[in-house]
Amino acid sequence: MKCSLPQANYVTPCLWAIKVCASSVTVGAALGKSGITRFVLNLLSPYTTRNTKAVRAATEALSSLLKSKWNSRRAVECGYIRRLLKLYDDWHQRDTKNKYIPIQRALLKCIKNITNLQKGKEAFRENDGMRVLLVTSQDCGSSPNLQPVTRLATQIMRKCYPKQRLPLLSLQSCFSFVLPNAAHSHVMGGPSETLQEDVAAKGNEEQDDEDEAENEESGFSEEEDDLETDLSRLKPNPEFDRPVEELKQYEILCPELDGYFQGSDSDDQSLIQDNASCSMFFGPSAPLHQKDSREWQRDSVREDPEKQHNLFRNRKPRQTPASSPGNEGENVSKGLPKNHCTHYDKASIMNHLKENMKQGLLNIQRDLSRINTDLQNTKAQSVTSEKYAGTPGPSWAIGGEHKYQNTGNKLVKMWKEIIPFHDQYVYTIKAEETKAVSGYKTLAFPDYWGHMPPRYQEPLMSQWNGGQRAKVFEDIQRFVNPGDVLNRVVFDTESPSLVMSGDDTSLNFFSKFESGNLRKAIQIRKYEYDLIMNADINTNLHHQWFYFEISGMRAGIPYRFNVINCEKTNSQFNYGMQPVMYSVHEALCGRAHWVRVGSDIYYYKNHYCTRGAEEKGQKAIAYYTLTFTVTFQHSKDVCYLAYHYPYTYSALMTHLHLLEQSLNPDQIYFKHQVLCSTLGGNNCPVITITASPEPQPEKLQQFWDRQYVVLTGRVHPGESNASWVMKGTLEFLISNNPIACCLRDTYIFKIIPMLNPDGVINGCHRCSLSGEDLNRQWSEPSPDLHPTIYHTKGLLSYMRSIGRIPLVFCDYHGHSRKKNVFMYGCSLKETLWQSKSSIDTATLKEDIGYRAIPRALEKICPAFTISRCCFLVQKSREATARVVVWREIGVLRSYTMESTYCGCDQGKYNGLQIGTRELEETGAKFCTALLKLKKDVFSCSTWLIQNSSLPDLDNELHNVKHMSHSNVCEDDEPPCPEEIDYYTDNCSEEEDDPIDLTTEADESSEDELCC
Ligand SMILES: [Zn+2]
Repeated sequence: MKCSLPQANYVTPCLWAIKVCASSVTVGAALGKSGITRFVLNLLSPYTTRNTKAVRAATEALSSLLKSKWNSRRAVECGYIRRLLKLYDDWHQRDTKNKYIPIQRALLKCIKNITNLQKGKEAFRENDGMRVLLVTSQDCGSSPNLQPVTRLATQIMRKCYPKQRLPLLSLQSCFSFVLPNAAHSHVMGGPSETLQEDVAAKGNEEQDDEDEAENEESGFSEEEDDLETDLSRLKPNPEFDRPVEELKQYEILCPELDGYFQGSDSDDQSLIQDNASCSMFFGPSAPLHQKDSREWQRDSVREDPEKQHNLFRNRKPRQTPASSPGNEGENVSKGLPKNHCTHYDKASIMNHLKENMKQGLLNIQRDLSRINTDLQNTKAQSVTSEKYAGTPGPSWAIGGEHKYQNTGNKLVKMWKEIIPFHDQYVYTIKAEETKAVSGYKTLAFPDYWGHMPPRYQEPLMSQWNGGQRAKVFEDIQRFVNPGDVLNRVVFDTESPSLVMSGDDTSLNFFSKFESGNLRKAIQIRKYEYDLIMNADINTNLHHQWFYFEISGMRAGIPYRFNVINCEKTNSQFNYGMQPVMYSVHEALCGRAHWVRVGSDIYYYKNHYCTRGAEEKGQKAIAYYTLTFTVTFQHSKDVCYLAYHYPYTYSALMTHLHLLEQSLNPDQIYFKHQVLCSTLGGNNCPVITITASPEPQPEKLQQFWDRQYVVLTGRVHPGESNASWVMKGTLEFLISNNPIACCLRDTYIFKIIPMLNPDGVINGCHRCSLSGEDLNRQWSEPSPDLHPTIYHTKGLLSYMRSIGRIPLVFCDYHGHSRKKNVFMYGCSLKETLWQSKSSIDTATLKEDIGYRAIPRALEKICPAFTISRCCFLVQKSREATARVVVWREIGVLRSYTMESTYCGCDQGKYNGLQIGTRELEETGAKFCTALLKLKKDVFSCSTWLIQNSSLPDLDNELHNVKHMSHSNVCEDDEPPCPEEIDYYTDNCSEEEDDPIDLTTEADESSEDELCC
């Protein structure tokens, strides 16, 4: 080739040959060692219109050679980066007609290959590569011709952006909780506490991409391998996980059985005394080991059979007071059911409130007083004034002497009538009883005031192609022009005193309230803030849920917010989802709505990461940015931003209280009891709903025949959508709707609406206070660490032990990576088929009744789609509620129902985001679908069946073979239009191929299949 140099005609084919040969890294390295790399580099020329074929061939050959690490290393040492950047800049500037894009691209490929090395990245930054590529890329604008070049340049810049640790001292949650038994203190999710320090010690010392790749998460792809194929693990497990005699304690949670048929005459008083003696016996300082409690139980059985009923109620952690008056469920009556819990009469509520006001425990006035708004002029206000003209306000006042006092009072009255099952008075009291680790003293206004879904529907957001890149460029600007970055911490949960006061235009942040989650806010530019979420308590992981207050805004200005420590690799925020916002100003004007807000919403990998300590076998964590822009309507408003419509534990307790108050106990049997106390000392409610039986013997027989339906929800605290679905279920079940009446006549509902109250209260996303995912503990729940799971399973086991296996079990969840509402169930045969197991399924018998509810929902529930349902049993799910209840309790119809955070892409709500109205509707429709299972549907009126449009059961059963075997690992979404921005590292060698987003999405969809 050297000989033929003067004749370009011969050079070009030679270069092509080099390009092809060097595509093998070994050959490339050998060629490089012979000195060919430098030779080829010297063939590159600044912009020219002559011999461009040869120049292109030389550039591509060089890029091929630089795939070899050895060649790249030499290239760094010899200063190639500088030359390549100059050449690229020159071609980019002067090739104004974009005739030689392949050459520009090949030059960038050379740079990209060199920057796979850590030394290459450093050389790139030292030679001002970031600025050169940023400026040239910004020049490109959105010209489609230049897309390949911009894409590559962006990849290089993102890859070379120095990795940084999050601006936190420790990744560990800023709240911690001491577990009841020190022996369990090892329970921690994820990498150790020292992780952030490890990163600190390493500083910015990075490794070459190939090494890095080894640390990146790479598992999870073998969805099929995850399918359970061990027949012994798919078949029912007849063993109870605890001694049968221990189950008898749960008898008390089925008072509907006892009270009617055994005519028990024990009164509340005697039980309270029992409780007291139990407390003494099993006091707060007593060890909480299961062994001890069993011993204790044996004693108690001997002593007094009554006492064992209260065993689990006394397994409380130290934090729990021995008695908490007013707790519903403590007055466990064995007599005929009555509408108990009238503890809160109006007068006591008022007194309570006044007390609280004096103690300054409630800071509602924060919101009212900070709002600079003339409510007198608003339309809603005039409506309120008219409606309540002359009505004296209650004697308590929001904020005492506050000038908006009357307004507040009147609006409270108005909203009480408008928002069903919400009441500010009751909410205040319930919130007062709620025990949080973070020790907040403030109620968030939306929780207190209530929420009504807006009348209008909210479409999925469309994204501007190129918008994500524009945001990424803004981020890269921080590195290129560090002087423009304010970097001012304006909010820090851990060290409020260190917060620098911003100027008048700075926003104020606040999150110290129930379910609140915001750890830190840093002002980056005048109208841009980086936000850091707090990890789940006792972990350094699970950043997804956020809920915080903002004030001090100016109307009409777009504020950019970046949540910089997201963990999931993809998000529905890239597919039309918006966060939700609640404006206090709007609420006081009569529009108390959580609404979807935000424009320019993108989710992409950022330059923050942490490196696991390799000796401990820990993985590095890469972080993602959720960015969105909000333009506030009102200056000096107080607004709340959240990941999804908040639903607090106090809201649940309020809701349950008001539900119970609203119904007619002669018709509806509604029992609110306490399942157990949580680690944080909160009561976990269990609700029983059925029709009150009439005393005639034949009616009692019918009552006996009613089957159980057990519903649970909110085991994952960040899945507030599950609570809205549960709200819909509860309200429907006590309604006068004829279907609801029929359901109550047919079934006994046992509902545990919130399996993880502590997580909800403390603003966690996934875990309980032990730092564990409670939906992975069902196989062997610990009474000390997972009391709600332990006792829910105990109650289910008790039902099984008395021959009353529930007809249906369903656990309500939320799904952040898929649209619509869908279910996961369990099928032995489908699992074996799907896993291509060699086991002969012909001999196995399986009732296909598990399909009935999803098929009914497909017909009657607009947000639901059966096409996303899945009935496979995965190994990784063997300790989830769905699988354990199916296998160990023997419930054929055991489900997880997943509701989207985002919206729907089918049916009546196609193209719309989901709101609380649709979530509540889903909860109601789920109940309706249960009618489908009724043996004798015609005992309900035919009208009902026709009007609920339930599909014909027989027909369905015949058609079951035709149903598709949906695949769990399929991701709903096509690749993003701007797929490349997902990858900052490990640029693929074959960059000509479009990067397949779904591959990455699949990896972590595992995590999200949270059933
Ligand atoms: Zn979940």
